[in-house]
Amino acid sequence: MGNWFKIGGIGLLVLGAILAGIRFQHGLQAANPGQHEKSRSDREARKGSITTFKMTFVGDLMCHEAQFNNARTGPNSYDFRSCYDEVLPLLKESDFTYGNFESVCAGSSVPYMGYPGFNSPDEFIEALDYAGFDLVSTANNHTMDQGEAGVLRSLSILDQNGIGHTGSFRSQHDHDSVRVEYLKGTRVGFLSYTYGTNGRPIPEGKPWMVNLIDTAAIRTDIQVARKAGAELVTVFFHFGNENEREPNAAQKQVVQHTIACGADIIIGAHPHVIQPVEFFKCAPSATLDTGFVAWSMGNFISNQYWRYTDAGLILNLTISRDHARDSIWISKADYIPTWVYRGRDPRKKQHVVFPAELPLTHHSTKYLNEDAIYRMKEAYADTRAVMASYTSKVALVNMQEWMYLERMKYIAASMHPQLKTLAQLRQREMVVDWR
Ligand SMILES: [Zn+2]
Repeated sequence: MGNWFKIGGIGLLVLGAILAGIRFQHGLQAANPGQHEKSRSDREARKGSITTFKMTFVGDLMCHEAQFNNARTGPNSYDFRSCYDEVLPLLKESDFTYGNFESVCAGSSVPYMGYPGFNSPDEFIEALDYAGFDLVSTANNHTMDQGEAGVLRSLSILDQNGIGHTGSFRSQHDHDSVRVEYLKGTRVGFLSYTYGTNGRPIPEGKPWMVNLIDTAAIRTDIQVARKAGAELVTVFFHFGNENEREPNAAQKQVVQHTIACGADIIIGAHPHVIQPVEFFKCAPSATLDTGFVAWSMGNFISNQYWRYTDAGLILNLTISRDHARDSIWISKADYIPTWVYRGRDPRKKQHVVFPAELPLTHHSTKYLNEDAIYRMKEAYADTRAVMASYTSKVALVNMQEWMYLERMKYIAASMHPQLKTLAQLRQREMVVDWR
């Protein structure tokens, strides 16, 4: 037995707590966590005085040619799900999971392509649903890669998979309907903007199709979000210079403006590398007193495999709300460095997102060779350094502790026959050797 078993007293306490709470977890995880289920738990959550919920953010979800070649399972069938198997519980345990979908699903009548004119198999989006994504941004420099048809079809495929989206739109009406999610009794609005579309034109007469960074629009949209009931406003930006590890003057300018307009949380992406994170003092029109900005989340999955671009981030913001005093605040900000494994066989490039901190007992060490482990450790150190460079208040998730809790959940699940499905899920997802 491993170390975790030695602290049996605490273990039993934790186990008890988990046994009490596991039915709820099971409800969220067994089914596709739809809006209906979430709002029911919202009502339950409101009964207590203080509620908390966790929002999880990752960076760019790219689909380069090597990725779909690897995921091919037949002449025109693909399966990307295994890319997320190692981080699945980390993404699924959150109340809300977000990423930047930096591609287009224009269908198989157009050749599938990587850079520079992305067109990805629909299965790429199916895997995002499998991984637990609730909402993606669709405003980025690749939004118009396959023209208007590509935009419209992508939104349909996201809808079919039950994944929310913001940043590109079907109509003026769609554009004006701000995305607001109900998270444990709190309404959170989501807006998204990109610096441009790589010179590909936005159709004439349809400026609403993609949100471009526009200071007047940002101001108006935040006001519209508040009118639509958003208590927290989260703004996504696709901006910055590629491969630059610090925010540039343009990023700072637009973020300052967005803070002044009353945004609570700001999440950036595009540079393909992680830039620092920090807290900021919110404007009086915001809900939070202290807001949060992640300047660039880096790549979450891609075929960019050089230093800094193969490192990603799972960023968690835990929001607490005291219903009696009607105050909302970020009670915890923590993160897990991630790293994308690429198989070395040039004919079979495997892409798997790993938590960059793994115990050596983990099953994956069977195929992570020395070089891969070196690069993973390098990414881990790089990410820790950048995440601590502007603030010391964002914590690194202790994966050993986290996995211990997962193990406890697994035991709890196996003791409850009605939770067989969860037990099976855990068994398949974790596959951790604990001896
Ligand atoms: Zn980009």
